[in-house]
Amino acid sequence: MTATKPKPKRKRAPRTFGKEKAAELYAELAKVRPDPKTELDFVNPYTLVVAVALSAQATDVGVNKATKELFKIADTPEKMLALGLEGVEQHVKTIGLWRNKAKNVIALSQMLIDDFNGDVPQTRDELVRLPGVGRKTANVVLNEAFGQPTIAVDTHIFRVSNRTGLAPGKDPDQVEASLERTTPDEYKLGAHHWLILHGRYTCVARKPKCWDCSIRHLCKFKEKTPDPAKTSSLGPKAPRR
Ligand code: SF4
Repeated sequence: MTATKPKPKRKRAPRTFGKEKAAELYAELAKVRPDPKTELDFVNPYTLVVAVALSAQATDVGVNKATKELFKIADTPEKMLALGLEGVEQHVKTIGLWRNKAKNVIALSQMLIDDFNGDVPQTRDELVRLPGVGRKTANVVLNEAFGQPTIAVDTHIFRVSNRTGLAPGKDPDQVEASLERTTPDEYKLGAHHWLILHGRYTCVARKPKCWDCSIRHLCKFKEKTPDPAKTSSLGPKAPRR
């Protein structure tokens, strides 16, 4: 008797989220936030670069507190260099990894003067040459300061893209590529902000507020959180004996 060969396991097809459904999702998010914007404070492209570089592993609120005074006295690379490393450190001390970030702010200001005439470049390749500026920061700057339809994948966007099934991916680069493919052109400029704000305020990490979510009907996340007002951890009271 010949042993039957085990059938090769079929690879699961990746979960897909077509452009039409993606358009529906963005339309819903756009209803909630018609004019989405970054929550980082800045006064020009240069201060945006600095603010985004300072925001790695820090909250926007924390960065805004630190930059409020800093940007009043240093809103150009020249003024930042005049302030010097110690001066910058004094302002950003409340932000995580401040020593390194302060060094980067000085170094990127110097490079902007030396290589870019003091202006913030408008291409990703040039932006990522600046110390402390990675692909994510460059995408935020291109989108927010120069109106380019880039999508920077941070922790919120990564979570929302995977949970909803909009653009699943194992790492930020995969999610970014997936978002590029799935996001209809007309939503590409706002996609970054819509997804980030949705992740920050509704589709939060621990207990997503599924009961209050405008895209619940489109989302593929199975364990949707029930409305806490309608559930009680104590359960119904047992009758007294
Ligand atoms: S339904 Fe829940 S998991 Fe899905 S996007 Fe909304 S908050 Fe996130």
